[in-house]
Amino acid sequence: MKICGDCFLDEELRSEVNANADADGVCEACGSSGKLMDFCEFQSFFEALLSLFSISSKSDKTIANIIQDEWHLFKEMAVATKLLSEAMAKFNPGYSINDKVDYTIDIQERVAVWDRLKTSVKENSRFFTNMDEFAKYNYLTAGKSLYAGQQLYRSRVTPVGQKKIKCEKMGCPPKELAIAGRANPVGIPYLYLSDSAKTTYFEVRAVYLDKLSVGTFRIERDLTLIDFVYDVNLFLSYNDGGVPLKEIVIKKKVIDAISADLSRPLRRYDSEIEYVPTQLICEYCKDIPGADGSTADGITFESSLHKGGRNYVLFDEAAAKCIRVESHEITRIDIDRK
Ligand SMILES: [Zn+2]
Repeated sequence: MKICGDCFLDEELRSEVNANADADGVCEACGSSGKLMDFCEFQSFFEALLSLFSISSKSDKTIANIIQDEWHLFKEMAVATKLLSEAMAKFNPGYSINDKVDYTIDIQERVAVWDRLKTSVKENSRFFTNMDEFAKYNYLTAGKSLYAGQQLYRSRVTPVGQKKIKCEKMGCPPKELAIAGRANPVGIPYLYLSDSAKTTYFEVRAVYLDKLSVGTFRIERDLTLIDFVYDVNLFLSYNDGGVPLKEIVIKKKVIDAISADLSRPLRRYDSEIEYVPTQLICEYCKDIPGADGSTADGITFESSLHKGGRNYVLFDEAAAKCIRVESHEITRIDIDRK
């Protein structure tokens, strides 16, 4: 089947078609006109991918549903169904295009390590929870950095009657007032920052006409962080060949699961025990060595409240200094442009 780059949403698959096209014409999968390439060039990649799934009576998704929802490879469902069927005509993964499937039991078991760890630390053993199963696969490694001089932001709702909060009051609360958060245990404050002032408006859950004190923080030294945004491309990883596709998929799903818990907003009626697993992970991150032998200075993850925004948690408050505070009133526009 001759296909075009537009069949894919995935940038790597698109550019592979555009780099290897050997004809011009109308795409047999999506109907666009352009450079064409034979889909069989991708056969081995799709065979490797299809092999990660099996029929599941508990699932309500087809293979095309999962690949579209989680990996965004194709431009639309119709193309996903057509091309996956084409790959399955030459390779039988043990299920059909209409069967309800899920990741293989083996993969689901490995991904559930996070659920097992959560139960263990909440219900069995708080301070000496066994991390061996989690640690074995090195899912978390020090990666993303912040450099001295970079700026991040933090907002607080300005108390009624005040113009704005002073710089020295914009950092962590003192130890004795530090309540538990998603990342920090009670009594051990961490500094929560965001990549833009806009992200902080959402993170403090500001509402229309709230007055905020928006602090600009300067990073005081180069910092190594554990990144909970694992932006991996399946096709690129497959071609690279260093790590089996299955391991890439497991790592992505484990990190995404932790990340979802880290970025879940605090709710008034939450029991503090709900924060314990992510606090444990942060404590674990503190011991992960960086490239220069020192240990991680913090973590970063996506904001669930402001799409595209990033949050940072620094373990040492002194690693960033508040250099300026501006007052900002939340307008309808701030709220609308989520
Ligand atoms: Zn196409």
